[in-house]
Amino acid sequence: MPVRVTDVVCPFCGTLCDDLECDISDDGKKILEIYNACAIGAEKFMHSQSDDRLVLPRMRQEDGTWKNVSYEEAVEYTAQMLSNAVKPLMYGWSSTNCEAQSMGSKVGELCGAQMDNTATVCHGSTLIAIQDAGVPTCTLGEIKNRADFIIFWGCNPAHAHPRHMSRYSIFPRGFFTGKGHKGRTFVVVDPRHTDTASLTDYHLPVEQGRDYELLSALRVVFHGEGDRLPEVVAGIPKETIIEVGEKMKAARFGCIFFGMGVTQSISKNHNIDMAINVTRDLNEFSKWSIMPMRGHYNVTGSGEVWGWQYGYPFCIDLSRGYARYNPGESSSNDLIERGELDAVFVLGSDPGAHFPFSAVKKMNKLPCVCVDPHITPTTVVADLHVPVAFVGVEVGGCAYRMDSVPIETHKVVDPPEGVLTDEEFLEKVYERMKEIKGV
Ligand code: SF4
Repeated sequence: MPVRVTDVVCPFCGTLCDDLECDISDDGKKILEIYNACAIGAEKFMHSQSDDRLVLPRMRQEDGTWKNVSYEEAVEYTAQMLSNAVKPLMYGWSSTNCEAQSMGSKVGELCGAQMDNTATVCHGSTLIAIQDAGVPTCTLGEIKNRADFIIFWGCNPAHAHPRHMSRYSIFPRGFFTGKGHKGRTFVVVDPRHTDTASLTDYHLPVEQGRDYELLSALRVVFHGEGDRLPEVVAGIPKETIIEVGEKMKAARFGCIFFGMGVTQSISKNHNIDMAINVTRDLNEFSKWSIMPMRGHYNVTGSGEVWGWQYGYPFCIDLSRGYARYNPGESSSNDLIERGELDAVFVLGSDPGAHFPFSAVKKMNKLPCVCVDPHITPTTVVADLHVPVAFVGVEVGGCAYRMDSVPIETHKVVDPPEGVLTDEEFLEKVYERMKEIKGV
């Protein structure tokens, strides 16, 4: 008889849905079925069960082939690589738990690493803007129970966060939102007609890269000067901007969710500065919040952990024995492109898939260790690939949802025999590095 495990947390996207249920075999070793997850969340659980999964580290040989090695050999290689490097990069940290992130920081301090996470290529500009302007925000629970006006700006949750709209933002009925979808005004700002846009009351197809102008035009409307706008701003007719702006003012509780369409288009952090100021202006009339749609399930946690430890959420330079922060100088792509690094350690992310090709080609020439349960484009350019347990499936631990609420993920089944967790592998590397350095 299968055993039903409830209250399982999905370790895929920043929505961190915590209502999943799993059927596992009665010996507790195999996941048989997963309930309530979206397609991408379910795939993460079922992929962990695949028969061709790696259970031993593998080292690249001179002829390009791979050879299986023991975890002890993998620990030794990694500890030597990081100890001997003058300027190593330790990158990723978004698809693992806070416990492993914290242990990774101890390793980084020991070797004076450049520490960076995936925010560097997604919401880093959001973090910079929040440091500049602050952030009026709330929790997803408040959205479900109070929000009657939702804007998705430069994001497509129908594909990237598939249960966000059904659990929190659009469809659910909450304490003060008993009519669910019918009681909410729903706006999408996106140059493309996405699947999310097809559900909305208003789709504003802003011209690519002109979000700053449209945000500024909304502020003009809020200040009662809408009539003075040009006939068209950023591809949107003045009448539509005024109509939507007036409805935003009249909302009871609104939220702007925004994604990489705004953070990684021209103007970058200045777009987010302006979006925060739009939210601030709206609080003169009503209650409004703003929230980034964080992608990896614990990228928020990485920023939180480093925030407590160093005061900075990404792009941290530990080479001087204390934390320095200067995105553009200490961000991973800039470090790689300038050829300043002599080793790369990747855990919990896939820069091989997400960094520019020119950077990946340079990474390929450096000693590189990749810790990942999967075979990925990054493992293809690594010299050592260390498979580990799936966090949220085979090991629990803390993760931060996109609204910065910490959620305890649960272990559902055991990892294959002998396979280490991220934290265990890092701890072994840390202990070996202490021996090498005599500290
Ligand atoms: S929306 Fe995100 S967290 Fe929720 S089930 Fe889908 S992938 Fe998992």
